[in-house]
Amino acid sequence: MKLAQRVTQVPPSMTLAISAKAKAMKAEGIDVCSFSAGEPDFDTPEHIKEAAKKALDEGKTRYGPAAGEPKLREAIAAKLKEYNHLNYQPENIIVTNGGKFSLFNLMLTLIEAGDEVIIPVPYWVSYPEMVKLAGGTPILVPTEVSNGYKITPEQLRQATTEKSKLFVLNSPSNPTGMVYSPAEIRALAEVVVEKDLLVVSDEIYERILYDGAEHLSIGTVSPEVFARTIISNGFAKSYAMTGWRVGYAAAPLELIQGMTKIQGHSTSNVCTFAQYGAIAALEGTQEPVDIMLAAFSERRRFILDSIATIPHLSCPQPNGAFYVYIDIKETGIDPLEFCNILLDKYHVAAIPGIAFGSESEVRMSYATDLTSIQKGMERLAKFVASL
Ligand code: PLP
Repeated sequence: MKLAQRVTQVPPSMTLAISAKAKAMKAEGIDVCSFSAGEPDFDTPEHIKEAAKKALDEGKTRYGPAAGEPKLREAIAAKLKEYNHLNYQPENIIVTNGGKFSLFNLMLTLIEAGDEVIIPVPYWVSYPEMVKLAGGTPILVPTEVSNGYKITPEQLRQATTEKSKLFVLNSPSNPTGMVYSPAEIRALAEVVVEKDLLVVSDEIYERILYDGAEHLSIGTVSPEVFARTIISNGFAKSYAMTGWRVGYAAAPLELIQGMTKIQGHSTSNVCTFAQYGAIAALEGTQEPVDIMLAAFSERRRFILDSIATIPHLSCPQPNGAFYVYIDIKETGIDPLEFCNILLDKYHVAAIPGIAFGSESEVRMSYATDLTSIQKGMERLAKFVASL
């Protein structure tokens, strides 16, 4: 069968493929330590599940508005005001099937042939593919480990052409865990205005911060930047709701209306009762978020200390999300081969940097229990010692 070129031009998601292989090995009874998935190992907090169950019992089982339940859009607007200091009305919000579909929908709404989208490397695995699926051209800008894998204002300026339409900013970052400081965000915002770009700020890890790191939403910098900003976010990472598939975008009205049209002809509304769980996540106690954060923090410390003891491996201190991005150049092995041997022989799943557009690194997610992390790091040390 001849598939559309749209599909043949994009590779499958490597992170999903490796996670699936690790899961299959586990199902065969192999004791795999999985550092591959970007998924909290916690269950969704009880009060969120209760709210969804109640919604089910109350018959919230029907089609709803394509842009989302009005109550959830209100709750998101209130959260953006209080937590991020962004002044959006509920009409400026669209509820989507995860953060993933808010980004994909945005690309479909905004990008067409001839448009360039600036993406710092390393990037979250799906950004360039989404741009390509929308017919646009991803412009990949390599960053330096010495700058914490963060794009500089000068690099952004130089990557801009008359075809540039959108800049993709992700802080805290997947895969590096790095967080742009408020000063760095302000400096990038200046270029966004100067070059008349739009910026999508993927803030899905905004709550997962360590060591006093601060998350500044770029839209707060000035009214000029706000008018050029699209916020993408979701419930998956902060509230351990990966399978619920609830995310959202906030943007100028015209854009949200366009995205609502795309949604009306594609997914329609997000699962209605799941949206009631999301309302409870925003309006209920935030204590479970703090508990998860404390666990991530302990694991982060452990994994960073372990890496420091393994020769030939190094990584900058990430201060957000739940990833370490380890430079393995000194081992002399290609990261893809490194990850293959690590999984097949040592039963440790990690993702090679090539999935994120870079060549010398391996990503490990510490959104897994401390015992597995301890075991996995011992195996990693053994593997590196064997080289
Ligand atoms: N953005 C980033 C940077 C991510 O890491 C992810 C998930 O891994 C997403 C967006 C999408 O998350 P979801 O669709 O599960 O809400």
